[in-house]
Amino acid sequence: MIEPASPEVITRAGRLIRGGAAVAFPTETVYGLGANACSDTAVAHIFEIKRRPAFNPLIVHVGSFEEAAMLGDFDRMAYALADAFWPGALSIVVPRRRDCEISLLACAGLDTVAIRVPAHKTARAILAAAQCPIAAPSANASGEVSPTLARHVADSLGDALLIVDDGPCPVGLESTVVACSGGQPVILRPGGITFEAIADIAGPVKVAGEHDDGPVQSPGMLRQHYAPRSPVRLEARSVAPGEALLAFGRHEIDGASEELNLSAGGDLTEAAANLFAMLRALDRPEHSAIAVMAIPEDGLGRAINDRLRRASRPGPWD
Ligand code: AMP
Ligand code: MG
Repeated sequence: MIEPASPEVITRAGRLIRGGAAVAFPTETVYGLGANACSDTAVAHIFEIKRRPAFNPLIVHVGSFEEAAMLGDFDRMAYALADAFWPGALSIVVPRRRDCEISLLACAGLDTVAIRVPAHKTARAILAAAQCPIAAPSANASGEVSPTLARHVADSLGDALLIVDDGPCPVGLESTVVACSGGQPVILRPGGITFEAIADIAGPVKVAGEHDDGPVQSPGMLRQHYAPRSPVRLEARSVAPGEALLAFGRHEIDGASEELNLSAGGDLTEAAANLFAMLRALDRPEHSAIAVMAIPEDGLGRAINDRLRRASRPGPWD
């Protein structure tokens, strides 16, 4: 249901998010579909509601630089950009801190995290009410344009969801995404903050896909995919000696050197929530490979299979 951004609705939105539900709310860029970024299950709901065919990393929203610095390592460049543009329409990709509490699903299994401090007063009020970092991609079904009005969200995602309405988004474009992990910053996606404004602070910036040697990469595709070191074998119906098993549902496969089950009950949301943490846990040299049982190709299963297919191919990964 669409509800105006009253104090009561903001408190409710915060409580819902903290409790693991997804809520749509305005930011200065576009309406976001937000969920507790520290909960794998809450983040899985975002992918489910958006019907995304792939798990890409999400932007984590926090209320202040201090909170951001608890999640990622800000080098001098990242700090300078945060200082210049936060709160605002810039998302900064930095290495995850060792003690980072953000869901691995929100980071698509990567060692980096994209963080933004939004300026919009309702987004900030919801962050304060939720008291947790909020992962929020645009609040539209996969493949559709980003919503800049509450009504767009309802048209795309239906109105079973709480949609906090605070009128049109002032910027109306997604945030600019810039990666800072030592060296020259790389712009991964153009957006609300211009390249020129970033270059004023950071000096010459690289744009992903331009001036790169080798195959052209599309924006946002720089080291985008978590790739296990161990070979990954799909559609396993048995295991070879030394293989670890990543299972799904009930089964009678014996003899794995170690087994983890994405969801013993065959629940795809639970499987999505566990995917990256379990792949990482099994990705150890003592296992000759990770054998993965077949996952049904529907709902979140599509995104799970997309990720597994990428993990099973040798690099370079698109
Ligand atoms: P959205 O959340 O749909 O607005 O999109 C997030 C954008 O940020 C996408 O272009 C992602 O590729 C990019 N992004 C988010 N996290 C990372 C990360 N850890 N590394 C690289 N790109 C990222
Ligand atoms: Mg989008």
